[in-house]
Amino acid sequence: MKRSKTKTLKTAKADTWKVFSLWVRLKDSRHGLNQCYTCGLVGHVKDMHAGHALGGRHNAVLFDLFLVRPQCRQCNMYNNGQYNRFRLRLIDEFDQEWYDEKVRLCSKTGRIMKYTTADLDEMIEWFREDIKITSLNRQLEDT
Ligand SMILES: [Zn+2]
Repeated sequence: MKRSKTKTLKTAKADTWKVFSLWVRLKDSRHGLNQCYTCGLVGHVKDMHAGHALGGRHNAVLFDLFLVRPQCRQCNMYNNGQYNRFRLRLIDEFDQEWYDEKVRLCSKTGRIMKYTTADLDEMIEWFREDIKITSLNRQLEDT
């Protein structure tokens, strides 16, 4: 019993990641292209990764709307996530205080924060809906 429940949550998390990763890569994209947050390389949405600003991939960071950004394969995989550049860009975009508070909250809640499958299903719906709205808006802009 316990085992299948764990598996369901794991699957739900993987499904959420799929939709969320697409949302991250499509956000601010134009004509299927997006820019790597840490090096500026422009690439196809399909080739981009969704990279995290902080290591660990624990729950507080995993689906964070601000701490996950499009990244090229090079930055995300071979340059170990470029955490330093990531940090500098976030501070540039928001400010130091925002960044420090975000890091503080993430390290505080990171390990205790839990999602239920219901939470994750809700998130999947939200991201799907937002992707739909965004793409409709783009179609309007482009006509
Ligand atoms: Zn890059």
